[in-house]
Amino acid sequence: MSSTNTGIEWTDKTWNPTTGCNKVSPGCRHCYAEALTERFPKSFPQGFKLTLHPERLEQPRKWRTPSRIFVNSMSDLFHKDVPFAYLQKIFAVMRETPWHIYQVLTKRDKNMAELASELEWSENIWVGVSVESQQYTHRIDALRQVPAKVRFLSCEPLLGSLNLNLEGIDWVIVGGESGYQHRSMNPEWVKNILCQTRKAQVAFFFKQWGGHHSKAGGRILDDKIWDEMPSVWYDHINK
Ligand code: SF4
Repeated sequence: MSSTNTGIEWTDKTWNPTTGCNKVSPGCRHCYAEALTERFPKSFPQGFKLTLHPERLEQPRKWRTPSRIFVNSMSDLFHKDVPFAYLQKIFAVMRETPWHIYQVLTKRDKNMAELASELEWSENIWVGVSVESQQYTHRIDALRQVPAKVRFLSCEPLLGSLNLNLEGIDWVIVGGESGYQHRSMNPEWVKNILCQTRKAQVAFFFKQWGGHHSKAGGRILDDKIWDEMPSVWYDHINK
């Protein structure tokens, strides 16, 4: 699982210069990365322990087709066990491959905010935080401190109703949980977030209703598929 074309609707590829993590909040309960690690033990000899993969650092330079790349689908880039020097190397690769868009998603908002000013950002590095319930909206305040061109929220798995401050936020992704133990998502929670993005003029992406598997409930909300991307994405592909 070093890199792959992905079934995740809002990205094209994944890049995992680290793998492994540990759980930090209720959104982690049925962590997809952990489940995949357990399913393919030969691919993950270290199990779910945070592991660096320096041999993967150069991969994006070899991918010539411009892509949206989800960084660390199998980990969390701002995990405390990722050395700062290694983080700098990852950022250098991202800056030096401007034909790609990098989508960094974290639940480690404090670590991200602390390190953000020491890292060198370029326009192709987007950063987001997971917000599964109101209790974790403080992650958005940390996100606002990051000097990234695009800041986004991933409200997946959405576990409750959210009242969001969308100032400085460019994109909101919403999705329900999938898997046999999935926790159901109330349609009113989703409609309410959609309404908030319309008022704030923020792009909205509805990934899935969720269910026993990711495609079980489909992606239709109010008779349509919501695939909006941040406005800079359209500038990027029309260059
Ligand atoms: S932060 Fe992400 S990768 Fe880490 S345990 Fe939670 S859901 Fe899994």
